[in-house]
Amino acid sequence: MRPGHGILRAVTRDLSANHRSDQAAGSRNALVIAIDGPSSSGKSTVGAEAARRLRYRFCDTGLLYRAVAWLALDRGVAPADVAGLVPLAGEVALVADSRGRLRHIHADGRDVTRQVRGAAVDRAVSAYAKVPELRAALVTRQRDMAAAGGIIMAGRDIGTVILPNADVKIYLNASAEERARRRAVQRRTTDETEAGQILEDLRRRDSIDSNRETAPLRTAPDAFIINTDGNSFDQTVAAVMGAIAEAQDGSRGA
Ligand code: C5P
Repeated sequence: MRPGHGILRAVTRDLSANHRSDQAAGSRNALVIAIDGPSSSGKSTVGAEAARRLRYRFCDTGLLYRAVAWLALDRGVAPADVAGLVPLAGEVALVADSRGRLRHIHADGRDVTRQVRGAAVDRAVSAYAKVPELRAALVTRQRDMAAAGGIIMAGRDIGTVILPNADVKIYLNASAEERARRRAVQRRTTDETEAGQILEDLRRRDSIDSNRETAPLRTAPDAFIINTDGNSFDQTVAAVMGAIAEAQDGSRGA
């Protein structure tokens, strides 16, 4: 879906955006692209592939919240223990792979990317992510990563709060059933009870992420909305690349 005259607005706003001078110094086309959407909507896999094609960096911000939740669970810090929780943000770091994709997370001095994707973190992460003080502690770090441009950043509040001046905003959506099905395939589960649990967990996480007071999951008014129900991975990547190309065309013509 085309976001009305959002692109024009994006171009106008972008002239005063902080990253403009960095972009001018680097590639003229080093856009900042925000991808938001609910759990398992494909932000990470699709965003990483789009970034590979554009030779951009890719940043999965969900890993930051997952790693903090993982540390908190490990150390017995409850979401309500704000004083115990906030310093944990300083102990997690996104690490780039050889292609510049920020898809690995370190905590406690080691790579915990696999651990933070486990079921325990899945269940607990949203309760931690809704703590305003924790979110505040992670804002500058996310903005700094995007400052040089040439990045696709995926999350829940990237286009609305973290990078409101992003050149392109995309909101990836899919029904809860479709997202749960994808997750079950990823986990190679054929067990119906487990599949039902995946759907239930996903709905619960959606509800906390969408209803929290600070930076809830929302569609930015100037975002391209891409519904991925029934799409193959390649179709969704093509739709994302199409939205980016449309935004680039819009800015060239402006
Ligand atoms: O994207 P992913 O499902 O890995 O994110 C895990 C959780 O982290 C989300 O359910 C949400 O609670 C939180 N999150 C967030 N803001 C972001 C990214 C993730 O609140 N930008």
